[in-house]
Amino acid sequence: VNVDEKLAVDKFEVDEGNPHIVLREEPDPAAFDKLVLCCPAGLYRRDEEGSPSFDCAGCLECGTCRLLCGDALLEKWEFPQGGMGVSYRYG
Ligand code: SF4
Repeated sequence: VNVDEKLAVDKFEVDEGNPHIVLREEPDPAAFDKLVLCCPAGLYRRDEEGSPSFDCAGCLECGTCRLLCGDALLEKWEFPQGGMGVSYRYG
């Protein structure tokens, strides 16, 4: 079983109007690239032109981005409100 298959069994409730992670307007490029490599859900991406994109839907709430790059990258990092976010399902 690969990582994508494992992630596919988790369930996500996305709080569309209130994202629990918000990036700074001009995130530090080096910090962003670090998370392209380190976010386990692959939510930090660069497109073919190299433009950064981020979507907090699918976040595993692991805290890696906050620990590695909080000040350089993040305007806000909170756990989703009750009932929202990831529900882990094993098996
Ligand atoms: Fe990715 Fe973890 Fe940050 Fe969520 S908390 S965006 S899964 S690194």
